[in-house]
Amino acid sequence: MNTRPVIIQKYGGSSVATLEKLEAIAQRVVQKQAEGFGIVVVVSAMGNATDELLKRARQITPEPPARELDMLLSTGERTTMALLSIAIQKHGAMSISFTGSQSGIVTNDSHSNARIISVRPYRIQDELERGKIVIVAGFQGTSYKNEITTLGRGGSDMTAIALAGALSAQACEIYSDVDGVYTADPKVVLSAQKLDQLSSAEMLEMAQHGAKVLHDEAILYAHKHQIALYAKKSHDASSTGTYIRPDGWPDYALEQAELRPLAIVTAKKTLFASLDTDSLQAWLDALNHCEHIKLMDMAVTAGHAIALIDIWNCPDEDAVKSALTRHAHGIARSDVKNVTAVGHDLGRSPAMIAKLQAKLTERHIDPLAVFIQPNAVTFAIQDSLVPDASNALHDCIKK
Ligand code: ASP
Ligand code: MG
Repeated sequence: MNTRPVIIQKYGGSSVATLEKLEAIAQRVVQKQAEGFGIVVVVSAMGNATDELLKRARQITPEPPARELDMLLSTGERTTMALLSIAIQKHGAMSISFTGSQSGIVTNDSHSNARIISVRPYRIQDELERGKIVIVAGFQGTSYKNEITTLGRGGSDMTAIALAGALSAQACEIYSDVDGVYTADPKVVLSAQKLDQLSSAEMLEMAQHGAKVLHDEAILYAHKHQIALYAKKSHDASSTGTYIRPDGWPDYALEQAELRPLAIVTAKKTLFASLDTDSLQAWLDALNHCEHIKLMDMAVTAGHAIALIDIWNCPDEDAVKSALTRHAHGIARSDVKNVTAVGHDLGRSPAMIAKLQAKLTERHIDPLAVFIQPNAVTFAIQDSLVPDASNALHDCIKK
């Protein structure tokens, strides 16, 4: 019986981009195991290998069959897992690599965006008991029809978090090229600060409005299953990272002074839609048939409706655009993005909404729309003004 605490470490594409980086990870995990832990390492495809594989398939045909695409894309992570296991064994430790299916990750049959329905990590448990470091190919599973499936772009986080739950891991560490979770994108907002910790409810709200540090469904899983997460920078021993506590919203209700945004986030790829309510039914129907999109915000008034749609995970943006305009007589613009202030109860405070709005007015930024949710206030902004708007709203974070 394996009594050592289990740690899951997940390394993203840029962290495993070269053989040198893989060798450095091999050394680290061997050391960590020597400290008395059972180690499971989940890996992404090396660098932009997934994009390269996609590109090759699309050179043959613009719409490759989804089943074959999953067979193809799953090889990216398999390459990494085998190379890392080879590197670990070179350092004299015992290791074994497993595909998603060998790891017991069972999914539905939705190719290219499968959902995990159960995790049966028996082989991983057996190998941990034998003292091996287990390397798992992220982003993939096997459907109940015994077909290889993939979990959607960025899905290796999901693999790591699902395994952390199934193995009752002590912690799940997600390594990438960023140092943790920031109050805004540090490339856009120079005064952005790293958060030392936040709750999974807060992280989930951020992810749902476009923060891509961690996969949004993976966060949801961690939140539901109370899994402690650490987002850290790989290849940087000094990185303290961000601790994502497995709990809900901190209670600021009695401390009004604390009411301020936690972070400002923008989704990478969005569509801003506008339509007459006459075509609302047809439009929602068209939206329902578009795969891999997320409706972030929507508002309907007498005669008119507007919406912001996250299309980051959507392989074919033009198809969504044409479905929404052709079948449903709407306008779908890709030059508008959300700039969202996330924080507990922000949307319940008229003073806070007014303050955010005033910051934009100071810089002569006129949002196309404002969407208010209990814990998020979203401004729809012309994309050339997004950096300016992000900086303006970020001012509200400072005490
Ligand atoms: N390799 C996949 C992707 O690029 C999955 C992942 O990295 O998490 O989306
Ligand atoms: Mg990722």
